[in-house]
Amino acid sequence: MNQKTLLTDIPDSIRQGATQEEWEDYTWQLRHSFNSIPKLEAALRLSTEERNALLHAAERLAVSITPYFLSLIDPDNPCDPLRRQVIPHMDETIVGEEEMADPCGEDDRMVAPGLVHRYPDRVLLLATDRCASYCRHCTRSRVVSGVTDHKLRTNWDAAFDYIRRHTEIRDVLLSGGDPLLLPDSRLDSILSELRSIPHIEFLRIGSRIPIFLPQRITDSLCATLRKHAPLFLSVHVNHPSELTGEAEEALVRLADHGIPLGSQTVLLKGINDDIAIQRPLYHRLLQCRVRPYYLYQCDLIEGSRHFRTTLQTGIDIISALRGHTSGYAIPQYVVDAPGGGGKIPVNPDYIVEQTDDHVTLRNYAGQLYTYPLFS
Ligand SMILES: *Cc1c(COP(=O)(O)O)cnc(C)c1O
Repeated sequence: MNQKTLLTDIPDSIRQGATQEEWEDYTWQLRHSFNSIPKLEAALRLSTEERNALLHAAERLAVSITPYFLSLIDPDNPCDPLRRQVIPHMDETIVGEEEMADPCGEDDRMVAPGLVHRYPDRVLLLATDRCASYCRHCTRSRVVSGVTDHKLRTNWDAAFDYIRRHTEIRDVLLSGGDPLLLPDSRLDSILSELRSIPHIEFLRIGSRIPIFLPQRITDSLCATLRKHAPLFLSVHVNHPSELTGEAEEALVRLADHGIPLGSQTVLLKGINDDIAIQRPLYHRLLQCRVRPYYLYQCDLIEGSRHFRTTLQTGIDIISALRGHTSGYAIPQYVVDAPGGGGKIPVNPDYIVEQTDDHVTLRNYAGQLYTYPLFS
């Protein structure tokens, strides 16, 4: 297991006088989050671009960073890969003409406030608009953090009613915002309600709490989630430096409670768009008992051009993984289709040629093999 950071090594501008016990209390972390220029300035050497962006950021997506996550950031390096994910930059005020407020077309598929029904047998339920910290590449920045006019007001009765009436739905994905910010008792009641619906077979939660606020992953939370098995957790992780000793402890605790873990990673330019970052990320996830699930092409969210790579970058990363490392370490690369087509897998081309009687296939090392079309 990676070393945990010693509290005595954390500067007091971040530690804010916390005792060990306070630091490990997730409510202390949330109450002491970094959400203002003076606080951030005391902890980091802000660049002009960052400082200017902080003056504007609050209009688009709030800034808030837990002391724990801030302690992982290099205070002097504006290019730090963790820092760029949570500290705004003036680049996010540039909106490309290809960009949208709702790039995945969720609002069009909202069948009740907060409930998105895109695929035949599963739904997305937005449980809250709050997160422990806000990602600058957030795909749901139009509703998340509560600073825009577009407020998320999930209508729980209408959502449960819709799911009850639609017997084809067998899978409910809770996301937001971060559902694990809700109190245990509230999560328990939401999950109990879903579990009381006979056709719901499978539950899952999308969360970044193990990365931003691992202190929240208490035994009591794990026991609550476990009650509603099968329940999978998809953890949003973008960089191996996020998988600290604290994050690993949180993930292993979830796994020990029988909660299967998957990951979701967003491909981000200058942050993780390199095989030298991607490979150790997936290897480290497996060590933390997380099975890499999706690698997302960065959505066309407004103000995200500086984060976006080409599709070829993602394809090259998958090519460099497939065959070269454990299949378990390889996520599926997907594009969430602009305008609302859902997730589309994008793969390197392993079929080189197809004739009437055979296909020519390329293996991971570039060697060619033929396979008959008719058996
Ligand atoms: C991602 C997503 C799901 C779940 O998709 P899977 O491919 O099953 O993980 C469901 N509904 C919506 C709207 C989604 O965006």
